[in-house]
Amino acid sequence: MQTHTLLFFFIITILLLDAVWGWILEELNRKSWADKVPERLSDFYPQEKFEKQKQYRKVNHRFGKISSTFSLVVLLIFLWFHGFARVDELVQQLTTHWLWRPLFFFGVVGLASMLIGIPFSLYETFVIEEKFGFNKTTPKTFILDQIKGIFIGAIIGGILLGLIIWFYEFAGRWFWLYAWIGLLAFMIFFSKFYTTLILPLFNKQTPLEEGELRSAIEKMSQKAGFTLENVFVMDGSKRSTKANAFFSGFGKNKRIVLFDTLIRDLETDEIVAVLAHEIGHFRLKHIVRSTVLGVLQTGIMLFLLGWFVNEPALSEALGASKPVFHIGLIGFGILYSPVSSLSGLGMTIFSRRNEYQADAFAAKYARPEALQTALKKISANALSNPTPHPWYVFFNYSHPPLLQRLEALDKKVRR
Ligand SMILES: [Zn+2]
Repeated sequence: MQTHTLLFFFIITILLLDAVWGWILEELNRKSWADKVPERLSDFYPQEKFEKQKQYRKVNHRFGKISSTFSLVVLLIFLWFHGFARVDELVQQLTTHWLWRPLFFFGVVGLASMLIGIPFSLYETFVIEEKFGFNKTTPKTFILDQIKGIFIGAIIGGILLGLIIWFYEFAGRWFWLYAWIGLLAFMIFFSKFYTTLILPLFNKQTPLEEGELRSAIEKMSQKAGFTLENVFVMDGSKRSTKANAFFSGFGKNKRIVLFDTLIRDLETDEIVAVLAHEIGHFRLKHIVRSTVLGVLQTGIMLFLLGWFVNEPALSEALGASKPVFHIGLIGFGILYSPVSSLSGLGMTIFSRRNEYQADAFAAKYARPEALQTALKKISANALSNPTPHPWYVFFNYSHPPLLQRLEALDKKVRR
């Protein structure tokens, strides 16, 4: 068998194994659903809400199976009929320019995969989330979100791809290093301006007004050694009833963003505890460390890409007759996915450890009991699964399961 045929079957095998592994984990997780709400959660998780939770899981589970099978089948058929090479042939009738050809190619592929995803995301938002009372997205918001998503994707994706292609054309074998530096600069720019440039396109943020909540937050952050200038409230309720808070940016741009739903559902001391947790991530350098790890991972990936992308079999496996950079890029993307799953696993382990540390930090500067009730409320509101399967947690959860976080916090409760 020729190298490219072997590589083709290798690519198919990776995609199939990845899907089967995902299904095994889902199935294990489905079987570990408890029948009754765990004792510990019964105060904020009434039986009736728990029944709803089980229904929600069931519907999501079935939907996930259908949508993942569908996209896998589409991709396999596409690969079988050399779809990527066909798209490239079509694009070449338009342009053979070194930059426009790959950009058009990715534009067509990206747009097609988005169009395929739209019916699923419509169903998820307006049927599933609607049925369980989460959805607040209006059809108008949905359409606008999609359009803005296309534009931002086209601009950001276009700039990044354009840079990589340009480096590849002009920098030769060191292109991966240039691309790495370029991506790094972009990441810094993006995280600095995310809340001031990107987020406002989707949500409104208003500074948190003076009052009991604001002064309680200021008092806590002062104790926690964090100069807090920007606390914003975001209209998360525009899309969903689920509550959240996050931290973004650095330097002068750093700010804490609270969802309005969080303010509505939680008491003052609970909000303070949630924020203390977020500040913990910052003070304990979790944000810096995970950024550095991300940058290193990207560097390794680009280095390997630089090594393999000129290998003719990579393009030929996807049906191209000659080595083509942008087709090789897709082949590399699939071949690299087991490696990126592995490094992703490392990141989730790291992230769960960070969550415990941030909880412990919050317990020092806010009331641990308040963090416990806040966590219960947030996860009961989101109907999250109180008894996930340990394997599922190990491979997929960026946060430890609720019960384990509550137990860890028990040790911090001051008696
Ligand atoms: Zn956290």
